[in-house]
Amino acid sequence: MKSWPEPYRIKMVEAIRLPRREERERILREAGYNLFMVRAEDVFIDLLTDSGTGAMSDRQWSALMRGDESYAQARSWFRFYEAVRGFTGMEHVLPTHQGRAAENLLFSQIARPGISIPNNSHFDTTRANIEFFGAEAVDLVIPEGRDIHLDHPFKGNMDLNRLEALLKEKGRKSVPLCMITITNNTGGGQPVSLANIRATGELCRRYGVPLFLDCCRFAENAYFIKLREPECARMSIREIVAAMFACADGATMSAKKDGLGNIGGFLALRDGDLAARLKSMLILKEGFPTYGGLAGRDLEALAQGFEEVQEEDYLEARVGQIARFGEALKGRGVPILEPTGGHAVYLDARGILPHVPAHAFPAQSLTAELYLEGGVRGVEIGSLMFGKTGKDGRFLPAALELVRLAVPRRVYTDNHLGYVAEVTGEIVQNASSCKGFRIVEEAPFLRHFTARLEPLA
Ligand SMILES: *Cc1c(COP(=O)(O)O)cnc(C)c1O
Repeated sequence: MKSWPEPYRIKMVEAIRLPRREERERILREAGYNLFMVRAEDVFIDLLTDSGTGAMSDRQWSALMRGDESYAQARSWFRFYEAVRGFTGMEHVLPTHQGRAAENLLFSQIARPGISIPNNSHFDTTRANIEFFGAEAVDLVIPEGRDIHLDHPFKGNMDLNRLEALLKEKGRKSVPLCMITITNNTGGGQPVSLANIRATGELCRRYGVPLFLDCCRFAENAYFIKLREPECARMSIREIVAAMFACADGATMSAKKDGLGNIGGFLALRDGDLAARLKSMLILKEGFPTYGGLAGRDLEALAQGFEEVQEEDYLEARVGQIARFGEALKGRGVPILEPTGGHAVYLDARGILPHVPAHAFPAQSLTAELYLEGGVRGVEIGSLMFGKTGKDGRFLPAALELVRLAVPRRVYTDNHLGYVAEVTGEIVQNASSCKGFRIVEEAPFLRHFTARLEPLA
């Protein structure tokens, strides 16, 4: 694959350190073999998430200095507002401290028992906010999106037949809103085509149902559209972004992703009445509507970030880096989810540790091995996160055993990721030494964050 130098150079560095092998063994044991419990300082290459972990540019750091911290109608608010309205084309913008706060605001007005909210795949905070208000979150990604080895350019696409069946069956009273997540984080960071966003928008309009985008990675999605959708090859990223949002009535965003910021989010809407109702909730939960949960300096840095993230050379380097990382892993015999998505590579733990049964948590075992072998931190998306115990006491494993290696924006070089590929390749070579784990302590829900485990002999 052709190399592609990053379209930036490094002005400031942050030291990272690989603890010695004996230290890593002790650290992991003390953390109960759960990477969420390992101190960040003790991690060499941290691929836990791409959320809020990106590097800001010199232009963003200087924007911070221009932050206007006035309580109401600050200059920084207008800059943020113009930036968001600019790329979403939406009149009403509510700033929030994170994406989930925008989701909570929206669903506080819409979700209640008897209501269904379809999406290609709900992100876990979106699902949690919908279920919290008693509604049902329905995942309707195309069947190709559920097959981890199948090659398809837009595995995040909405299954239009199933969406139409749901709309027909329940009607707009019970389906008051439809979402599409771009890119589809839960489904492997897979993009959604412009044709599919358009068709979903048209279908929703026919049923009088507003379409909202969960647009955390809108720029990465736009870049995939440019690469893979022949009709869009000659459009600029900004044109594609405008075309995507033109199909939607509203959007929720975590600006910790394609805002290139460390904190922030928003809810954008076309409907002025809904916006007015939500603004009073915003004041209650987050803050005055011209700052939401954010400092003026955050609003400035994000306004700048929204511009930079749409620069094509940035996106080429970003998406290219993930693809090269995937190639490097495959070159070392590591099975991964394909094709690679926009923000992460997903390791197929079942393929890497075939002898570790689901009840011994192969994906969690792989996260432990990655840390032991190379000080690398990834996140388990397998039976520790989604496995359940049935009513008869039987263990019900997750559908897939994956380890997500999410790549922070503009933080690591190909050299760092090449090292991670090397470490993973060594684990594949010596896989038989890993016997799996058992849980010794767990919380009643969201156990993967705090569970303690021990290795099986
Ligand atoms: C991160 C994320 C969210 C939630 O945003 P937070 O800023 O973490 O609250 C919602 N949807 C998707 C697709 C995400 O990736």
